[in-house]
Order: sequence, then structure tokens, then C-alpha cells
Amino acid sequence: MREELCEAAGVQLLRWYDAQARVMPWRVGPEDRRLGVLPDPYHVWLSEVMLQQTTVAAVRDYFRRFVARWPTVVDLAAAEDSVVMGEWAGLGYYARARNLLACARAVVRDHGGRFPDTVEGLRALPGVGPYTAAAVAAIAFDRPAVVVDGNVERVCARLFAVEAEMPGAKSDLVRLARLLTPKARPGDHAQAMMDLGATICSPRKPACGICPVLGFCAGRAAGIAADLPRKAAKPAKPVRTGVVWVAVRGDGAVLLEDRPPRGLLGGMPGFPGDGWDGAGGEAPISADWHEVGSLRHTFTHFHLDLSVRAALTEAEPQRGAFVPRAGFQPAALPTLMRKVWDTATARAVEWGGHWP
Ligand code: SF4
Repeated sequence: MREELCEAAGVQLLRWYDAQARVMPWRVGPEDRRLGVLPDPYHVWLSEVMLQQTTVAAVRDYFRRFVARWPTVVDLAAAEDSVVMGEWAGLGYYARARNLLACARAVVRDHGGRFPDTVEGLRALPGVGPYTAAAVAAIAFDRPAVVVDGNVERVCARLFAVEAEMPGAKSDLVRLARLLTPKARPGDHAQAMMDLGATICSPRKPACGICPVLGFCAGRAAGIAADLPRKAAKPAKPVRTGVVWVAVRGDGAVLLEDRPPRGLLGGMPGFPGDGWDGAGGEAPISADWHEVGSLRHTFTHFHLDLSVRAALTEAEPQRGAFVPRAGFQPAALPTLMRKVWDTATARAVEWGGHWP
């Protein structure tokens, strides 16, 4: 697409958004925006943090639960860490939950409970990266910030037929996204780009026939849209190995420990494990351990192969503490730990964990 056509493409995109905007619990739709309803910066920020690396479908219920429980950033800032971590369980990337709290507290402590309304001000908050700062500035405050996530990169690569490989092409795609960003309604434009990338200009099979900017799309005209953006071959993810121990007492209590505050699943409760670096480690309690299976869990940068050991024991733990069965909630554990629990309980009869 020639750069002088960007403005016309932007107009088409907003027209389409006005008619087709997705309804989301954190979004103020175009109709309400016209009537003067303003987005709540807390909602915008919370949804953007939740949506990083996760789908809209997965986030909806979490978002509703969070705002029902903590209706304002002041409420969230006052919440106990463990309670917020518990509500976050299942969303993954727990460092984000810790940053979420740190950011909420900074907004209350340093800004009187109001989010800064510029990219620079938002960027200075803990855990707020360039993408989140731009998204909140654009959507909540209608700043002409350039909001570029994976969806927007894909749309821009196709619209402008950028054939350079990712991630090297990123800076060029940001420049092109800036060309597309209008001075008027930058927040709606950002959301329109997100919607287009999520619903029509999808990764494998873009639905070009119903695309509002079909007439401007150089990638489509060249017949290469579905192959863009081109990606450099990824190196295979390394595999780490480790052991995790599930200890249960005769009365049904389950041995848990909080993970160290930094690092994998930092600060989250879970079954004691070794260092997960293949170097081994001591079991957290004396017991007659049974090998009950293994599982693979994939983190961003590596696969983790865990060997699961389980035992019934009445010994005193060297690490962690027994949680009474009535207070033990597998659903509040991180996904990896839920998999561990499922693996252990699937063979409970063999190791004696068939408590009442
Ligand atoms: Fe994407 Fe096709 Fe639209 Fe181009 S025409 S932006 S490839 S959906």
C-alpha cells in the first residue's frame, strides 16, 4: 500500500469498527464512545495485562471476577498478594500477577489512585512495557500512541507486503503502524486493528473477501498475504528436567510450599520440587516414594519434563507445610501444579493416597 493511501485505509477501518466492533467486558464500544462514555483506565490496563500471551476468550471470566472483587485500582492495591495470586491461577505468567499488584500500588501511592494519561507516565509504572503503555494511553486516554502487538504486526506486514523476516522487521512494522494511526480516534483505531487481526486477518487463513481494507492490501494483491509476516526459523526449545513430590498424610492433608518469590512460578503455592535443572535434590519429607508418572509442561523458553513421585506419610516435613484436605484447592494452583496433582491422583490406589 502506498503511504499516501494510509489515511483512506484508516477511515475504512474505523467505519468497519463502528459497525463490527467486538463486545468485550472491558471495552467501551463505538456507539457509547459517541455518546460520551469514557473507558475506565483501570479496566483497560487490567485487560491488557491479562491479555498478554492469552486469548480474549480465556480472559473474559478472569476479568469479570477481578473487577467484581476489586472494582477499582485502589481496591486491588489493598488486596493481599496471596489472594490475588489465587485469582490469577490458570492465567499463567505469574510474574505478571506480581507486577499487576506492584503497579496498582504505585498508582495509588504515587498518583493518588489515577493512572497517568501519557505513554511516558504509564511506562514509568512497574511492569508496564511499551505495548501496554501505548495501549492504555490510546484506548483509555485517546493519545495517538502506536499500539503494536502480534496481531497488528501481522496486519501491517500484509497491508504493506513487508517480506523481511521477523523479528528483524519489527521496527519497520512499527513505522508503518504509525503511518496508519490517525490523529482522530486513535483509541478506536488501535482496537479496530486488534479486531481485524483477531477476526479477519487471522494468522493462517485471512478472510480477505470480507476485509474492510482489502482494496488497500499490497500483500493480498501480490498473492502472498497468508505467508506474511515471514518468520526466521526458531531454534528448538531446550528441555529441562526435574522431580516433584506429592506427599499426603493419612488424614488427607497435602504438603505444599510457596515457591521462591523470583523465578519460575515465583511466589505461587505448589508441590515441593527440586531445582528443575536436572541436578536433582532432596525430597521434602521422609516417605516411601512411588514413581507415578511424568509430564511435560512448556514455558516460554523451555520444556520442563517432570517426574512425579507420590507417597502417603506421617513424617514431619523438612520443607513446606501440610494443608488440611478441606482447605486444599487444586483449582487455585498454577496449571503445572494441577497437572502434577492429576498425575498423582490418577494412580492414588497404588501409593495409598485413597483417603476418605
Ligand atoms: Fe489481511 Fe487479507 Fe485484509 Fe490484507 S486483505 S489486511 S491480508 S485480511
